[in-house]
Amino acid sequence: MKKVYCQNCGKHIESKRDLFTTQIFFMIQAYCQSCYFERIKKVSALAVSNTPLNGRYSNFLALMTLVGLIMVYFAEIDYIKIPLLVVLSIVLFMRLYSFIRFERHLLF
Ligand SMILES: [Zn+2]
Repeated sequence: MKKVYCQNCGKHIESKRDLFTTQIFFMIQAYCQSCYFERIKKVSALAVSNTPLNGRYSNFLALMTLVGLIMVYFAEIDYIKIPLLVVLSIVLFMRLYSFIRFERHLLF
């Protein structure tokens, strides 16, 4: 199992409760709890999403995104179908990437 370290302070993150993954532009980064909240306070909300990519709320959003993706796919909205599919796919991909890169290495 790969170890997950906080990208800011280098602390070894041992549990999912201490892991906060966030998206900065198109890069996914892992932070420990204290660094995450400190960073969110400092960095503008434009660059960093205030919602961590991992966690229950995020899983719910991912599910909603998936439902949205399926609905858009079957909807008859040809003029915005492709851009919508691309955006929703990126959102889902980010969630998946956060899981594969960090979360699956942590048991709890
Ligand atoms: Zn840290």
